[in-house]
Amino acid sequence: MKFDSFTLISLIVLANLSVLCVSQDFDFFYFVQQWPGSYCDSKQSCCYPTTGKPAADFGIHGLWPNYKDGSYPSNCDPNNPFDQSEISDLTSSMQKNWPTLACPSGSGLKFWEHEWEKHGTCSESVLDQHAYFQTTLNLKRKVNVLQVLKSAGIQPNGEFYSLANIREAIQNGVGYSPWIECNVDTSGNSQLYQVYLCVDTSGSNLIECPVFPNGKCGSHIEFPTF
Ligand code: 5GP
Ligand code: 5GP
Repeated sequence: MKFDSFTLISLIVLANLSVLCVSQDFDFFYFVQQWPGSYCDSKQSCCYPTTGKPAADFGIHGLWPNYKDGSYPSNCDPNNPFDQSEISDLTSSMQKNWPTLACPSGSGLKFWEHEWEKHGTCSESVLDQHAYFQTTLNLKRKVNVLQVLKSAGIQPNGEFYSLANIREAIQNGVGYSPWIECNVDTSGNSQLYQVYLCVDTSGSNLIECPVFPNGKCGSHIEFPTF
């Protein structure tokens, strides 16, 4: 069979486009960690998991597929529900690193189910359920935000720190600029709630964020104890 060059070029373009369409269901991940002290020190309050009070460390909130324009997909595959049996080998590490603080107290399964179904199913072309949770745990192990902050003299002691100093400490210690999300304590103070870092579509490598979420912190924010 012979093709003229126009047909050949069209075929090459089409082949590349179809590859793009299959692999491009999201552009990057937000890896989101929460400070338990700030989840608890707010109007909603918190409940410790049935497995006990979590460590005084950042916990995983989730690994969220996102688009470069700031929007994001969610609940992508109702046919791929959370299946506890697929991650039984990860349960104890999840309890430690991905604890739930919502009320009423739970083991974490509902939180993990929610994260898988809302966010994880949107990256299932790259990470199956086990890989999704394993990859997220690996990120937590690689990035010790609390250690980095403490090394810069920023401690969870109920004091206020400049947002710029917090960002700079994480930028210097982790190598990438974070997004900081604040919430408010029961007295109305802005406090360090969640730290967002960006990860490439493999889930393995930190990258600079293509876009930051919206939201506002005070210029000085509280870092509550836990
Ligand atoms: P909030 O409205 O409290 O900021 O976020 C509520 C939930 O919406 C989050 O826990 C998360 O599941 C989802 N969400 C909020 N912002 C983003 C975002 O920028 N990207 C993604 N993928 N999910 C988000
Ligand atoms: P997202 O905000 O990711 O959409 O979902 C958070 C959901 O998980 C909410 O329904 C919330 O009640 C539940 N959840 C359970 N445990 C936690 C927790 O420790 N932190 C946060 N942020 N949400 C939790």
